[in-house]
Amino acid sequence: MIIADMHTHTHFSSDSQASPDAMLESAAAHGLTTYCFTDHMDYLYPMDNSKFVFDPETYWATMSELREKWRGRIDVKIGVELGLRDEADTVSPVEAYYEKLLAKYPFDFVIGSTHCVDHIDPYYPSYWEGKSGTKGMLHYLESELWNLEHYNGFHVCGHLDYLMRYVPKGKRVHELPLWPVLDEILHVLVRRGIGLEINTGALRRGYPKTNPAEVIVVRYHDIGGDLITIGSDAHYAEHVAADFDRAEAMLRKIGYKEYATFSGGKPEFHKF
Ligand SMILES: [Zn+2]
Ligand SMILES: [Zn+2]
Repeated sequence: MIIADMHTHTHFSSDSQASPDAMLESAAAHGLTTYCFTDHMDYLYPMDNSKFVFDPETYWATMSELREKWRGRIDVKIGVELGLRDEADTVSPVEAYYEKLLAKYPFDFVIGSTHCVDHIDPYYPSYWEGKSGTKGMLHYLESELWNLEHYNGFHVCGHLDYLMRYVPKGKRVHELPLWPVLDEILHVLVRRGIGLEINTGALRRGYPKTNPAEVIVVRYHDIGGDLITIGSDAHYAEHVAADFDRAEAMLRKIGYKEYATFSGGKPEFHKF
């Protein structure tokens, strides 16, 4: 059984109203003994720069208090999900901002995610205008590859192929052209000692796969990737640990016997 949810949000994220305490109640109800808050920090988010950033001081104080309150029941970890960017005008300020943040706050766990490409969140249909499904995916993955090679300070790659969730209806994705980039991404992860997150969030949004999809996890395993974390990406209390049984079954089938949690930036391994 998976006893830790390593990717979750609260009202400190612009896209969640959830109370941190309610998330922990849900975690306890699901039998978890480790729980990590990873609210969004997407510095210079396009269209609205104040979106997806939180006040780190308040965040740290709130989560530290909860960690004490829940001690003995749930091991509360304080993490963050950083939005990585590769546009020429965003790289330096984003990098400086995250370096300063990570130097000041000793996060247990840091997820590196690519949410925006070309100053747009591809969640919005306008990203796809004039692009085939394959081209939109390829462009996203190339940007993600650059981010994963360039940035420091994060421990896992969040929801690697997350954009698959947002390919517009009617646009098919041909997987073959994606493989050279996917393969390079997986090799970068292994070479740099960055873990691969299994994100179950898409399963409850009508996309029938984890992010990344099983075939990508198989390849990561084949090339020696052994650092796996599991996260629900819950933005509501009822989604904590959602579909973890499916993630566990997939990982076991691939050949994984353990997964990781993080404490003070160091991985700790747990058997299923
Ligand atoms: Zn994300
Ligand atoms: Zn997230």
